[in-house]
Amino acid sequence: MTDGSALDLKSFIRDIPDFPKPGILFRDITPLLASPPAFKESIRRLCEPFADSKVDAIVAAEARGFIFAAPMAVQLGAAFVPVRKPGKLPFDTHSFHYELEYGSDTLEIHVDGLKSGQRVLVVDDLLATGGTVGACCRLIERTGATVVGCAFAIELVALGGVKTLAPYSSFSLLKY
Ligand code: AMP
Repeated sequence: MTDGSALDLKSFIRDIPDFPKPGILFRDITPLLASPPAFKESIRRLCEPFADSKVDAIVAAEARGFIFAAPMAVQLGAAFVPVRKPGKLPFDTHSFHYELEYGSDTLEIHVDGLKSGQRVLVVDDLLATGGTVGACCRLIERTGATVVGCAFAIELVALGGVKTLAPYSSFSLLKY
């Protein structure tokens, strides 16, 4: 395949106003996923900063986080460990309940998904407030593993997610 380093990946993100509710500008990644060179290049660029980070495992929350996390795990030679909504994982779980702007949510990880001391990269499609990935970090801490960083395809800078996730470091491919 040809070198994708010159690709403008932002041109593959589609803006949908007022979805899923009025006032939200939804950043739609499906055009990027539909382009093999753009998707491949996004995975390459997301992995690049972590090539020497000795990542043992990548953790991501359903559903869109999985899309980037699984190919990144293959490329970095790391395990892929899913974080899911309650009742979806079949084995014993750690559970973390957290507050959202409107309401609350719970995420779970298998108790044996990570081992103490493992080095973990957390991945999501988009960083908004940081609530989702913050919850993933808390779950990882409960397993005794170490968060080495967080990586996002898209960051909504004005929502301050990077500060919420500190002291963990965040890397974002495309910033808005
Ligand atoms: P947060 O937990 O606030 O950082 O929100 C991140 C999650 O919400 C991501 O997994 C996204 O899939 C989703 N999300 C939040 N805002 C948007 C948006 N404007 N466009 C697309 N997805 C969004």
